[in-house]
Amino acid sequence: MKIIKTISELKIALEEIGRDKSIGFVPTMGYLHDGHLSLINEARSQNDFTVVSIFVNPTQFAPGEDLDAYPRDFDRDSRLAAAAGTDLLFFPDPGEIYPAGASTFVEVAGEITKKLCGQSRPTHFKGVTTVVNILFNLIQPNRAYFGQKDAQQVAVIKKMVRDLHLPIQLTVCPIVREADGLAMSSRNVFLTPEERNQALVLSQSLAAAKVLHESGEGRVKTLKDQIIGQISTMPLAVIDYVDILDFETLADIETITAPALAAVAVRFGSTRLIDNIILD
Ligand code: AMP
Repeated sequence: MKIIKTISELKIALEEIGRDKSIGFVPTMGYLHDGHLSLINEARSQNDFTVVSIFVNPTQFAPGEDLDAYPRDFDRDSRLAAAAGTDLLFFPDPGEIYPAGASTFVEVAGEITKKLCGQSRPTHFKGVTTVVNILFNLIQPNRAYFGQKDAQQVAVIKKMVRDLHLPIQLTVCPIVREADGLAMSSRNVFLTPEERNQALVLSQSLAAAKVLHESGEGRVKTLKDQIIGQISTMPLAVIDYVDILDFETLADIETITAPALAAVAVRFGSTRLIDNIILD
């Protein structure tokens, strides 16, 4: 596995691969876990060459969020990425991606970036779409891999690719969970044992909503109330949002008649966790 820090080295490495080879790209912020590795495996199985980026993107963090505290361990990450079969690991410094004076952003406008995480993180998706665009431009992958764990991010990036006619095929990989159901996340490391225990209510309440929906309940308010009620039984849980929206467009719905996304964000202490399930 080649480790590359600069854009000039990246260009040389990509020229060496040659344009006839397919490139699969997995963007990450590092502190890799099995969720990330599932994306790398999928990329490897579908492409000649697999590129992984590790970049804790400053523009998707608002002032006061956990940019500085975000967990980082490059040595461990590079071992895991190499063992997973990554061919090229791109690990740029912020100044490489955002040269002095950079002031151009890519923003998906509209409701899709305003609801769910967009409510408490109004500038987040602008940072995500900007950096994903920059990375797409630099790497020019044939395919890019994202996790359903970040369901709104997937919807926003799909829209960006469609709106800008980007010649990249997106693949969305299922949520990888710990054995007890907690969705894997780099931020799980911040949870105290008690918070970690109570955080199980996210996946449990979503699974219970799916059972209720499958038993014939299609009313969004009823399903949401059940999720909120179950999460609220945990004294350390502070709900940021619980919502059920159209799966494709993230439009508001009152009853489920097409695939829907049930998504939650909950704080435990200073750690904010997200999870979701598809109600089909
Ligand atoms: P991050 O490093 O958190 O920015 O995540 C990088 C990519 O890995 C994103 O596409 C995430 O959606 C995906 N990812 C993170 N956690 C999981 C998980 N538990 N299961 C599947 N994909 C994940």
